Amino acid sequence: VQELTVTDSLTQIFNRRYFLERFNEELERSKKFKYSLSFLMVDIDHFKGFNDNYGHLVGDAILREITKTIKENMRQIDFMGRYGGEELSIVLTETNKDGARFLAERIRQTMESRQFRVYDEDLKVTISIGVSTFPDDAGEAALLIDRADKALYQAKQAGRNKVCVYESHN
Ligand code: GH3
Ligand code: MG
Ligand code: MG
Repeated sequence: VQELTVTDSLTQIFNRRYFLERFNEELERSKKFKYSLSFLMVDIDHFKGFNDNYGHLVGDAILREITKTIKENMRQIDFMGRYGGEELSIVLTETNKDGARFLAERIRQTMESRQFRVYDEDLKVTISIGVSTFPDDAGEAALLIDRADKALYQAKQAGRNKVCVYESHN
């Protein structure tokens, strides 16, 4: 019963509501112990095109494969949620900007190098990632999400299949 209320049925990762709850808890812990924390917003590149060309079932399978690939690159203490339709959000505990950039880049490269076999189709799918960090960029979850969203937008603008790290100018 617990699982049903906190996980997304398609991807088996946290749903948005529970992810945000955990995010806030982790942020409080980071403040208390003066740890850094990083946030990643992941978005599939040209996902609409995959749905249009291969159908929604293939799109769903792609989402599951991507979730699996990302999980393989995360530590046990990190956690991921399904933020929006095709947007995945990740909290990296005790991780500063450099650490987050490194991990995000590793996830991006793994995706780039992998070929997914879904329903008899061999597909290459890339992702873009925006990164923000506590305490560098903001002190609350909503703002960290906003900053990562801005970085993600830059990654898309720069041609997709990219990691962009938010840089505060203060
Ligand atoms: P961009 O590179 O700019 O991100 O392009 P995009 O096509 O990925 O972006 P856009 O926001 O136009 O399209 C997102 C698509 O994701 C549209 C929607 O149908 C699809 N999507 C969202 N949730 C799901 C899902 O659960 N399953 C499937 N198959 N598709 C989904
Ligand atoms: Mg999107
Ligand atoms: Mg997309």
